[in-house]
Amino acid sequence: MDGNGYDRQAVSPELAIGKVLARQRAAYLTDINPALALRVDRLDRLERMILVWQERLAQAISEDFGNRSAVVTTLADIVPTRAAIRHARRHLKGWMRPRRVPLAWTGQPGSGLILRQPLGVVGIIAPWNYPMNLTLSPLVGGRGRAMLKPSELTPRFSEVLDAAVKAFFAEDELAVITGGPEVAAAFSAAPFDHLMFTGSTAVGRKVAEAAARNVTPVTLELGGKSPAIIDASADLDSAVPRLIWGKLLNSGQTCVAPDYALVPRDRVEAFVEATKAAAERQYPRLADNPDYTSIISARHFDRLAGLIEEARDKGAKVIELLPGTDAARRILAPVVVTGANDTMALMREEIFGPILPVIPYDTLDEALAFINARDRPLALYWFGTDRKAEGRVLNGTISGGVTINDTILHLAQDNLPFGGVGASGYGACHGEAGFVAMSKEKPVLRQSRLSAVALLYPPYGKLAGMLLKVLARFG
Ligand code: NAD
Repeated sequence: MDGNGYDRQAVSPELAIGKVLARQRAAYLTDINPALALRVDRLDRLERMILVWQERLAQAISEDFGNRSAVVTTLADIVPTRAAIRHARRHLKGWMRPRRVPLAWTGQPGSGLILRQPLGVVGIIAPWNYPMNLTLSPLVGGRGRAMLKPSELTPRFSEVLDAAVKAFFAEDELAVITGGPEVAAAFSAAPFDHLMFTGSTAVGRKVAEAAARNVTPVTLELGGKSPAIIDASADLDSAVPRLIWGKLLNSGQTCVAPDYALVPRDRVEAFVEATKAAAERQYPRLADNPDYTSIISARHFDRLAGLIEEARDKGAKVIELLPGTDAARRILAPVVVTGANDTMALMREEIFGPILPVIPYDTLDEALAFINARDRPLALYWFGTDRKAEGRVLNGTISGGVTINDTILHLAQDNLPFGGVGASGYGACHGEAGFVAMSKEKPVLRQSRLSAVALLYPPYGKLAGMLLKVLARFG
């Protein structure tokens, strides 16, 4: 038996997932539009669940990683999830309120409304890098029933999450489904009312295909290569520690980590020096440093080591910012790479680790062309004080989101919609944007005792002709 109470040998994932989904859908149909009080109660229970289970969840995550500081889990999993819950609780009433809209003449003198109804049962597929945040935060938009599918790379976390959820929610409200890609594939093929997928672009494509068969709407929160541009006007002393913080948080295993840096050619040397100083300040040592996260698995460690090796073999210069790679503990020392180019995998694939290629540029146009020649990134960072250059970057690029003069922080704002564009995904989450994504905005026209259109009922006479002339100009 697994954590979901079914024997995988005896029951296929499709059947087990289908059973829970059927129970949730039946429960949903008894209360399609739950009242505010029930929705707030669900948010309260979610918050209490996190409070009661947070240490066990953080410990499980640390064990799954090999080492991950409870501070990182608190900062990037617990605090943002609780903030999302509090934000939703404060705003839920306003978000739920029907919107009155003015009507065209055909609706006069009736009235127009938009009702925001929960779509129904939501399936949430999450990656391993911030497992609590990425499974639980989307719940604040759903308001009802959901099934969670955490990553197979965080099995201890999934087990603890399952126990926590069972202690606070009925299975027809919230359930955890565990398993690897086979279970995940069955999960994404189930006829949810909405699917929220966070993970890689390659798997996101498969999820979108599977969902299309059910015409299930999907939010795809994917990854990609997020650039950081250092402008000629940037102050390296303030920019570089912020960039290094964003790069080395969770050892670069962050969807919005700056992937590579574009640096004015004449500042590359100073930039590299500054990265070294910043890394040394933030991580005085790597050996037994609880603040420096291990790479999640041996496969990912080997992948990252391979990126560095290939770049070196092809002539790039690899500068270790700190010594201390320890393969047994999956600790990978952070490096900056100069002389990288597109023949190297580290300039073609999302890095998702503590490797920072530095690409020199001569003009801002050249930097923007470099970004625009690639897949649309999830995040873009710009450091500088020249407002004209800032405007050119904002208007001349398209990305999921932007932080100016820092990294990552736009993600932590519940009033800013979060989501990718192009290969970094579609749809949005966080705050009201997440609420709308998991709602049907149902238009309603309430006709009055009178009807403007009744003037145009057949048989068509002179009045109809006159009215149509007026409408052709003003209608
Ligand atoms: P992944 O795509 O390998 O896995 C994500 C989830 O998909 C896991 O739960 C996995 O079990 C499931 N999965 C695997 N095969 C599947 C299939 N065929 N059908 C359906 N689901 C399947 O990603 P990962 O390695 O866990 O996470 C890293 C990626 O996630 C990076 O690309 C990163 O940028 C991205 N990410 C994006 C965000 C965001 O908010 N946009 C946040 C965190 C991570």
